[in-house]
Amino acid sequence: MSLDLQYDNKHLWHPYTSMINPLPCYAVVSADKCLLTLDNGKQLIDGMSSWWACLFGYNVPELNTAAKQQIDKMSHVMFGGLTHQPAIDLAKKLVAITPAGLEKVFLSDSGSVSVEVALKMALQYWHALEKPKSQFLTVRNGYHGDTFGAMSVTDPEGSMHELYHDFLAKQLFAPQPGIAFDQPWDATALDEITLLVENNQANIAAIILEPIVQGAGGMYFYHSEYLKGVRALCDKYELLLIADEIATGFGRTGKLFACEHADISPDIICVGKAITGGYMSLAATLATSEIAETISRGKAGVFMHGPTFMGNPLACAVANANIEKLLAFDWQTTVLNIETSLKHYLAPCIELEQVKSVRVLGAIGVVELKKAVDVAIVQKKFVELGVWIRPFGKLIYIMPPYIITPEQLQLLCHAIYSIINEEAVEL
Ligand SMILES: *Cc1c(COP(=O)(O)O)cnc(C)c1O
Repeated sequence: MSLDLQYDNKHLWHPYTSMINPLPCYAVVSADKCLLTLDNGKQLIDGMSSWWACLFGYNVPELNTAAKQQIDKMSHVMFGGLTHQPAIDLAKKLVAITPAGLEKVFLSDSGSVSVEVALKMALQYWHALEKPKSQFLTVRNGYHGDTFGAMSVTDPEGSMHELYHDFLAKQLFAPQPGIAFDQPWDATALDEITLLVENNQANIAAIILEPIVQGAGGMYFYHSEYLKGVRALCDKYELLLIADEIATGFGRTGKLFACEHADISPDIICVGKAITGGYMSLAATLATSEIAETISRGKAGVFMHGPTFMGNPLACAVANANIEKLLAFDWQTTVLNIETSLKHYLAPCIELEQVKSVRVLGAIGVVELKKAVDVAIVQKKFVELGVWIRPFGKLIYIMPPYIITPEQLQLLCHAIYSIINEEAVEL
């Protein structure tokens, strides 16, 4: 049976895709471990973990069981006035594994919403202290989601801010952290953000950034001293620090959370993507007790947010099984092994003329080209080679499931090399 791709083409929006001249779509009928099976029977090795989410690949027995068991009890109940074991267990786990001091858990349905929640918490915190502030400071090339608050702190160029100009809050942008993760540190890298803070301190509610790894805004890894410096700036000038760990959380960078590279705790953290192992949409915003209590002492008396599917038991049950599996698994060694292999197998790419840089951190491998790729052409070639890799702009990158085999990883890297090397491809 083949899928009705024509109907898809005509009626379904796909992410960042034209409705009149859409990029081709491949129909998936099932997925297991690291393999996606297309409707024509072809199998592709997954290099994307469905956008950072599927830590253990697909069709994971423990996660299937958790979902099935929970579905027979209840899929959902409202969280207003009701609670349940899956949410309590998840809160315990998140408080235990996230950096110290983050103790109050707000569950929501997606990463972007968890960012909105974080921004609102920061605003309400200052309001409750009767020192209202109305701006956020962030760094260029960041990405925090597609809703309006999140968009306002996302890099203006990549997110086409001018389209929404009159509607978006005006935030403060410091330059992208200038020193890469593995370069020698130079403290002058903090000069510009320090100046911005000094000049606007009274009106900045929080600094928000992705710790160490900037994801969708450019797949760039910056120096841990920068993050430490930002924490120190926030302490000195009494600003809150929001860490968006939606992409970096749950071991992806080699630490359970990327903040650990700099040994810092933010005041608010956002987690999402991998939280349910890629099974369903769930996110969480954790704040310090001080923030939660201050908000609750304020004029509103409560935090003003409450999504319909808050604390969804089905998603929480799967998240619990996923986090248990992660903690019982030697993810440190696994991620380190993936890092070593990625470095080894992607290294030859740097010799290709089209390549600007090759970067690897944890289970993330990035090849940045000098020019943007034609996604339709490159995607087709990757599929022909039996791999699922989705490039964007000048970036070809992979963050495979942790359970990928060494042979599969080698095939992914080899596919990247051969695609770039193939002169027939217009890059
Ligand atoms: C993906 C992502 C988001 C948005 O999450 P959604 O679940 O897509 O809304 C926010 N911040 C970062 C760092 C992300 O990678």
